[in-house]
Amino acid sequence: MKQAFFITATDTGVGKTIVTSVLGVLAQEHGLRVGVMKPVQCGGDDAQFLKKVLRADDDIKRINPYFVKDPLSPHLVLSRAKIKFDIKKVKKEFSYLKEKYDVVFVEGAGGFLVPITDNYFMADLVKDLDLKVIVVSRLGLGTINHTLLTIEQIRQKGLHLTGVIFNETKKEAKGIPEKTNPFSIQQLSGVSILGQIPFLKKLNRRHIQEKCSGPIDIKRILKSFPIKKTVELVDDDKKYVWHPFTQMKDWTNGQPLIIDKAEGSFLIDSDGNSYLDGVSSLWVNVHGHNHPRMNRGIIEQLNKLDHSTLLGLANSPSIELAKKLVKIAPKGLEKVFYSDNGSTSVEIAIKMAYQYWQNIGCTKKRKLVHLANSYHGDTLGSVSVGGIDLFHKVYRDLIIETVKVNFPDCYRAPKGKKYPDYAFECLDKFETILKREYQDIAAFIVEPIVQGAAGMIIWPKGILKRIETLCRKYDIIFIVDEVATGFGRTGKMFACEHEKVHPDILCLAKGLTGGVLPLAATLTTKKIFDGFIFDYETQKTFFHGHTFTGNPICCAAALANLEIFGKEKTLKSLHPKIKFLQKELQKFYDIKCVGDVRQKGFMVGIELVKNRSTKEAFDWKEKAGIKVCEKARERGVILRPLGNVIVLMPPLSISREELKILCDVTYWAIKEVLEV
Ligand SMILES: *Cc1c(COP(=O)(O)O)cnc(C)c1O
Repeated sequence: MKQAFFITATDTGVGKTIVTSVLGVLAQEHGLRVGVMKPVQCGGDDAQFLKKVLRADDDIKRINPYFVKDPLSPHLVLSRAKIKFDIKKVKKEFSYLKEKYDVVFVEGAGGFLVPITDNYFMADLVKDLDLKVIVVSRLGLGTINHTLLTIEQIRQKGLHLTGVIFNETKKEAKGIPEKTNPFSIQQLSGVSILGQIPFLKKLNRRHIQEKCSGPIDIKRILKSFPIKKTVELVDDDKKYVWHPFTQMKDWTNGQPLIIDKAEGSFLIDSDGNSYLDGVSSLWVNVHGHNHPRMNRGIIEQLNKLDHSTLLGLANSPSIELAKKLVKIAPKGLEKVFYSDNGSTSVEIAIKMAYQYWQNIGCTKKRKLVHLANSYHGDTLGSVSVGGIDLFHKVYRDLIIETVKVNFPDCYRAPKGKKYPDYAFECLDKFETILKREYQDIAAFIVEPIVQGAAGMIIWPKGILKRIETLCRKYDIIFIVDEVATGFGRTGKMFACEHEKVHPDILCLAKGLTGGVLPLAATLTTKKIFDGFIFDYETQKTFFHGHTFTGNPICCAAALANLEIFGKEKTLKSLHPKIKFLQKELQKFYDIKCVGDVRQKGFMVGIELVKNRSTKEAFDWKEKAGIKVCEKARERGVILRPLGNVIVLMPPLSISREELKILCDVTYWAIKEVLEV
C-alpha cells in the first residue's frame, strides 16, 4: 500500500527535519522504500540533509522544487525573488516519488498555516497532494495551546490527522509540563500520540536507529500493521456483532471503522483519525457531539435518579419535558406518551388512533392510510404503513392490510404528467376513494414535507396542507411522523410549521435528545386522550408501554437539547447556513451524473443517474451510492446513501467551514467514482 505523510510543526525550530529523518530511517529499516520531499524551502539545507540521511538518489530539484536563500515566509521570499509558485510542478514531482517509493514523507516549511502565496497556504498543498498529517510538537510550557490550535485547523480543513510526535529539542531535565504534555494533549484532543523522540546528539542513521526505534512505533504509524487495539476490536466485532441493515457477508470481508470518540461535528476512530459526521450519526445529532451542556444535563440527572418506571410512578424529568414539548409543539397537542425509538412512536400512534375509534363506538373505522413510498420504522406495525420495497417486501405476509396512496417521487412523474401538478392529482384521486370508504378509515400517516428514507423526496408547497384538509373533511385522524424532520432539521422546529398544520398525533424521536440517547414521544390532542377516559371496568385503557418509558436520563438529555436550542439560538443561526448550503449545492449540477439536487433546510438528497436527460437510474447492483460514500470516507467524511441518493444531513451546529468541506468532499467523491 502506498503511503504519503506531511510533516508539519506547531512552529519553526521544533524539529520537522529531525522527525522526517527519524521516520524515514525507521521506515527504511522496516524494509520499505522511502522517498522524501521538501516542496518549499526558505534558507537552510534541510532538503540536502534529508537526501543524504535517507540516501535518496533523486535530483535535489525533484526533492525540493522551490528554494530561496532568505529565511522568511515563503509568500514573501518567493514574490521578492519573482518566483511564481505553481502547485502543478509540485504535484508532478510528488507523483513521480509516490510511484517510485512505498512511502513518501513531505516536509512542510514553518507551520500548517504558512502562506506560500497570497492565497495559497501550506494547508492547501496538503489537501492537493492528499497527504496524511503528522504534527511535530515540542515539550514544555505553551505547547498545549499551539498543538491544539494546529489540530483544530487540520480537522477543520477535513484532513487526515495521523497524530502528534514530540521532539526533545534540548537535553535538559523534565519538569511537570514536559512530563504531562503528551497525555494532556491526547486527553484534550483525542488525537493519537505517536511517540517522543529523545534529544539526539548526532543525526546519523545508527544513532537514530539506536535511540528512536524504541520510542517510535513506525509500524503503527505506517499502519502496515494497524494498532493492536484496532485489530482486536475489528476481529471481535466481526465475531460477535450483527449490524443493522447490513449484508454481513460484505461486512466480514471489509475493514470496519471503529468509532472511539467524537467532538463537535467530528467522529474519531480507534486509530485517532477524525471524520466529519456528514449524516449526524444517522440523522440524529443536533448540537454536535460531546456538547458540554448536553453532557452536564445527563450527568447531573444520572447522579440523582438513573431509572424509575412510568408504570405506576412518575418522575420529574419526564414531567418537565412533557410540559415543554406541549409548549413548542403545534397547537392542540396536549398529551405526551413516551417510548424509546421512532418505530415505537409510530406503533403507539397507530394503536392510539385505531383504539380511539373502537373506544368511542365507531367500530368500522379500522383502516390505515399511508403514502405508497413512505417509511415509518422497522417494527411490524410501522412496516405495515411503510412501502420501501427493498426493506419491506419479505415481511409482507406478516403485516396488516392498509390503504396505499400513490405518490410521485418529485423527480420522476409518469409519462405525460408534470410535477408538481401530478402530486396534487394523486391526492385528488385519493379523495375519490375517500368519498367511498371514509367510514372505514381510521387514520392517515405521513412524513411531512420530506420523505427521508424514500430518497429525500421533498413535497411541493401545499401538499401537507391538502392532506390535513382531507383528514378534517372526512373525519380521519391525521398522524404526522416528524421522527426525521423534527428539531430543526427542515429549518423550523417542526416541519408542520412550514404550512401551519395541526396534526392529531405527532411522532418524535431521532433529534429529541439532541441525538444522544434513545427516547421517543407520541403527542396527541385532548380529544383523542378523552377517547380513553372511561370507567375501569370498560377495559378501554390504552394497553401499551415499554419498560424504559420516560427514562429520566433520556428525558434530561431532551431537556438539555431544548435548553441549547434556546441559549444558542440554534434555529436563528441555522438560516444563513441553509442559504450557504443551497449555494454550495448548485455546483453539483456541473457533474453529468447528478440528476437532481434536493434540499429542505439541512436535509439534502443528491440523486445520481446514469443519464441525466432520460433520468435513467444506476442499477442498484452497481452500488453507485455506496461507492461514492466509501470514496468520501477516504477524505475523512462519513456519509450513508439511500440507494442512488447521496444524503447530506449534518448536525445543525456545523460551522460554515465544515459545511464547505462536506460539500467539497462529496463533490470530489462523486467525480472520482462516476466521472471517467
Ligand atoms: C428513522 C425513522 C423512523 C424510525 O425510527 P427508529 O428510531 O429507527 O425506530 C420512523 N419514521 C421516520 C420518518 C424515520 O426517519
